[in-house]
Amino acid sequence: MKAVLIWGILMFFIFEARAQAKDLVLLNQSKSIIYQIKYATKDNFTGKQIYDCPQCWVHKDVKTALDKVIKLADAKGYKIVLYDCYRPSPYQWKLWEAKPDSRYVMHPKKGSIHSRGGALDIGLTDGKGNELDFGTPYDSFLEKSHRNAKGLTTAQIKNRKLLDSLLYSAGFVGIRTEWWHFDYKGSRAWPLMSWKWSCESKPKPK
Ligand SMILES: [Zn+2]
Repeated sequence: MKAVLIWGILMFFIFEARAQAKDLVLLNQSKSIIYQIKYATKDNFTGKQIYDCPQCWVHKDVKTALDKVIKLADAKGYKIVLYDCYRPSPYQWKLWEAKPDSRYVMHPKKGSIHSRGGALDIGLTDGKGNELDFGTPYDSFLEKSHRNAKGLTTAQIKNRKLLDSLLYSAGFVGIRTEWWHFDYKGSRAWPLMSWKWSCESKPKPK
């Protein structure tokens, strides 16, 4: 009887968590989308693997807007690289524990826009798949990562302007400290979510 009750409560929370995340959709890897989901590897500022597997989930409105970005980038001969998308709240705690500095990691209680499905960490490659130079690697907590950083080369400034123009034209807005991070308009009001994706339904390359 007790086991049935525990099972019932567990199922309730599983369904509740998925219902909360009903607006999230998966962005599969494709010829226009390259996955570099760093928190599914040890190659990130924590030095630890945070996600069990790489998947990029976003709010459905973000997907619609990103489709526009992909089309624009494609017309100019570029592809998009996704470093991070929806980030379940429990993982935000792990990042905060590794770097409790609100300039770079949003306090989990306040909640990252990533945990609302409204933020993207994004870069670009050229047509051959070479990542463009934006001045620093992803997730560098350096002043050089800041939007208006000094000491960037003409090419790095040009690349940042290109990334900005693509994202801004589709309704995204950048933040001061990270060249790679963009929030979708209005997403600050979306709910924080803790739902985690299943690694059994791995996105297949198209
Ligand atoms: Zn971000």
